[in-house]
Amino acid sequence: MTGGTGGVTDEGRARLHAEAVAITAELVAIDSTNTGDPATIGDGETRVCLRIAELLDEVGIASELVESVPGRGSLFARIEGADPAAGGLVVHGHVDVVPAVAEDWSVPPFAGEIRDGWLYGRGTVDMKDMLGMVLAVVRHHRREGIVPRRPLLLAFFADEEAAGVMGAQWVVRERPDLFDGMTHALSEVGGFSVPVAGRRLYPIAVAEKGVAWASVRAHGTAAHASRPTADNAVAAVAGAVHRVATREYPVAPTEANTALAAAVGEIAGVSGEVADLPAHLDVLGHFGPVVGASLSHTASPTVLSAGYKTNVIPTEARAEIDCRVLPGGEDTFRAEIEETLGPDVEVEWIWAPPIAAPADDPLVGVIADAVRESDPDALVVPYLLPASTDNKHLAPLGIAGYGFVPLRVPEDFDVFGHFHAVDERVPVDALHFGADVLDRVLRSA
Ligand SMILES: [Zn+2]
Repeated sequence: MTGGTGGVTDEGRARLHAEAVAITAELVAIDSTNTGDPATIGDGETRVCLRIAELLDEVGIASELVESVPGRGSLFARIEGADPAAGGLVVHGHVDVVPAVAEDWSVPPFAGEIRDGWLYGRGTVDMKDMLGMVLAVVRHHRREGIVPRRPLLLAFFADEEAAGVMGAQWVVRERPDLFDGMTHALSEVGGFSVPVAGRRLYPIAVAEKGVAWASVRAHGTAAHASRPTADNAVAAVAGAVHRVATREYPVAPTEANTALAAAVGEIAGVSGEVADLPAHLDVLGHFGPVVGASLSHTASPTVLSAGYKTNVIPTEARAEIDCRVLPGGEDTFRAEIEETLGPDVEVEWIWAPPIAAPADDPLVGVIADAVRESDPDALVVPYLLPASTDNKHLAPLGIAGYGFVPLRVPEDFDVFGHFHAVDERVPVDALHFGADVLDRVLRSA
């Protein structure tokens, strides 16, 4: 089929599809595990980048490898647009993957094997699928003489799985010139079909929660445990953690959640108010828990440590609390949590602010049209990602980031649930679908 894509032959489209699968599989087979430990990371990220550089070079696209340290490469390639005055689109993905324990898998995690119509392997949804599809599309465009409307910057980042410190964050700090002229960005996390009330929803991430890690400490008098003290550090931290964990975090409307609630209300015949969304999360199936986490601030205690012997009161106790903050809450959240923790503990914060791009940007419309051309029943809806991507690192450059990796998947396949999972896999025909959609998005965005 030519699918209304103007002059492209069946052979051309078949090759696009075949390359989307073959390149994804090939990149999965280059083990680029990010252990988070410099001693064990290796050079997988640079090896992925060098292979991508070859694939681009084959169609005459030059690229630049930038390494934060040897072996930890990110790669950049510019593609001119027909309208050079248009703001540029960064199309980015990360080249690293989280570790995989081979014994737990039913297929080798770094082989890129296809079984029964599914491509298996670490990175098949997070996110070498996007790399494979984007590379297949730009190679297709070169072969067919297709020039995108706006300038594109293809960016392949190291270290996303360890917060981008040696990848996007490093590159934005050391080489901001690479992003000159860029106004928008497209990457993870979103674009996978989810069944809702007989329709297929394709959520597009238009915003991301902020990350606020609170390190909590209390100090008290050391003593023999048979003589209780008034300033017991263990009790102070335990009380503070309990108050934060049991506090109410009310549902708060954001632009993304408001638009999502309205869409859900319409197709499922329920209230379209954000405040009522918690009562209708079951309508959203496996997308429900993601949405549930995106409706309010959250605070999850994750680490507790104190003491060394049952009969000794220690001088210090500490806890770590992982908080996630809605856009718009960054000014008030910290003070609210510190008040809840109370005066008996000290708090230090590690903070990555939330981001939000316009939900009604023309790019969102282009993406919705591109999806509907392949899936006429589709509904593209904005949502707020309750986690983080490299889009956060690009935001300080004034780049509006969106999360959309188009995949049409079977109803019972939970793509969100396959991130970092055992037997991570993607349907082969979902990669064909995604390549078709990205073909339209990258040429007309
Ligand atoms: Zn990812």
